[in-house]
Amino acid sequence: MPTPPSRPRPERADSPELAAFRRLKAEQPELAVAVDMQVEIVVLQHRAQARLSTPWLEFEDAWLARQMAEGAPIVRFDEVRFDWGELRLLFRQISDVLRRYDVVESADYEALQQLQRGGRPSRDDVAAWYTGAALRHRATIPEEPGLPEVLSQVLPLAARPFLARTVETLHQRVDLAGWSHPYCPFCGGDPELAILPVTGERKLACGRCTGIWPYDAHACPHCEDRRPGSQTSFASRDGHYRLIACDACRKYVKAYDARGSERPFMLDVDTIATLPLDAAAQQRGYSG
Ligand SMILES: [Zn+2]
Ligand SMILES: [Zn+2]
Repeated sequence: MPTPPSRPRPERADSPELAAFRRLKAEQPELAVAVDMQVEIVVLQHRAQARLSTPWLEFEDAWLARQMAEGAPIVRFDEVRFDWGELRLLFRQISDVLRRYDVVESADYEALQQLQRGGRPSRDDVAAWYTGAALRHRATIPEEPGLPEVLSQVLPLAARPFLARTVETLHQRVDLAGWSHPYCPFCGGDPELAILPVTGERKLACGRCTGIWPYDAHACPHCEDRRPGSQTSFASRDGHYRLIACDACRKYVKAYDARGSERPFMLDVDTIATLPLDAAAQQRGYSG
């Protein structure tokens, strides 16, 4: 019998992440649609990420120490191994998913298709988007990239596997002890969620590259206010998540509480699981 041609390995049905998504859907049926959409996106992202090789970035100690001291993210745009064909394919697939779930309206979807026919997102688009946050430590903040809004909505999802692949080996190799900023030391992205680990300090997880870094538990990741008593914290019904709100700037961050949880932090699952906390925060007058 002829051997069938080899295909990209499908996402394993028993992967811990997909199992966690299934559990979340069973426990909170009201999140079913959000879970289904996230699963489709995650499967596409993982499939793309599985085809990428891991770049090995070399950093000189002195350079690294200087970046840390200046609060400068360490991964430069040229060091992310983007594959433009793969990125555009993923961009198209994710656009389709977002349209199907009505997250992108039909007029915006039209606009997206037109942009794609014109060869976008281009390398320059991705560079503008990436560098905007990666240079945020500079005294003169780089100009807004001026990308079409709908492009900015999909681009982070399509770029994620490339950034995640690039930073995945850096956690073990880069000492982040000197980093005290609320943005990502790898790519400059904003924190998506906080993690309250069983032991040790609070951590933040990057929404762009999935990087994780330690951050002062008494500081607000939005305004960096460190005064005691200016943070209010609420637990979710199941106790697995917390909403940490700042009374100085009225913003909040959501946190995965690993204390008392049987599984590790999973950015994609925990982002969806904490959706009900956003409504709770807004009811209390805080914004995200
Ligand atoms: Zn990052
Ligand atoms: Zn604040």
